[in-house]
Amino acid sequence: MKFIPLLKFSLAAAVGALLALGSPAQAEGGGKTELLWLGQASFRIKSPGGKIIVIDPWLSGGPKTPAPYKTDLSALGKVDVLLVTHAHVDHIGDAPAIAKLNDIKLYGPADMVTPLITLGILPADHGHRFNKGGTVKPAPGIKVTAVRADHSSLLVWKNPATDKMESHPAGEAMGYIIEMENGFKIWHMGDTGLFSDMKFISEYYKPDLVLVPIGGNFTMGPEDAAYAARTLIKPKSMIPMHYNSNPLTPGTLAEFQTAMKGSSIKVVPMTEGQTVSF
Ligand SMILES: [Zn+2]
Repeated sequence: MKFIPLLKFSLAAAVGALLALGSPAQAEGGGKTELLWLGQASFRIKSPGGKIIVIDPWLSGGPKTPAPYKTDLSALGKVDVLLVTHAHVDHIGDAPAIAKLNDIKLYGPADMVTPLITLGILPADHGHRFNKGGTVKPAPGIKVTAVRADHSSLLVWKNPATDKMESHPAGEAMGYIIEMENGFKIWHMGDTGLFSDMKFISEYYKPDLVLVPIGGNFTMGPEDAAYAARTLIKPKSMIPMHYNSNPLTPGTLAEFQTAMKGSSIKVVPMTEGQTVSF
């Protein structure tokens, strides 16, 4: 009966593969959520139902954007949901171009989307304005709630009529709770400093996975991010982001990992271009 040891081996291999993936956070109801890190705060998320969600796509200008995404926005595939947390260039990046390319709406802070439209950067029917506390359903089975982020939002834009740079107020920065078809929830924190309501947001929305900025200078650094994780948020898993992109985000992954030592929270470090599943 040769098939029995073979079966045993297959099962062991399958279990081993699952353990190696380190993805214990798979939500009930089946299906996997796949995240591709495109550098800084930019992720492409593939939902269990196959929807492509793109957030903060700083691609053509991003110093760490992996090939082929730096030069080819269509490499993202057909984008179903497009989210931007605030107007800083390393977040809004190529979002207006992606909205037009895919004929979809850019979802972002209400007072950021308005100047995008009034300045002619984004066609009016390609923008969706919402705000903190609001929930949208940008694709069947996908739910996004805007939550607080302690940060700012300024739109810097070169006016083609004058060829001069202009600064425009662009609302308030936000974070997003992104819920998949199977209930799996990701909290993309956007850019943020520490604030005590991180505890409330975590208790109320119960995110399975938190994407946390650790680079410092503009956001929490490694020590603050570790405090937030251990004391306020206490998630199952975290992916560090918003570091390793320029000298103004000096916080390192090693510093964050050191500050998280001994914690039961699973830190999932990524390199730009890498994909992980949950
Ligand atoms: Zn910012």
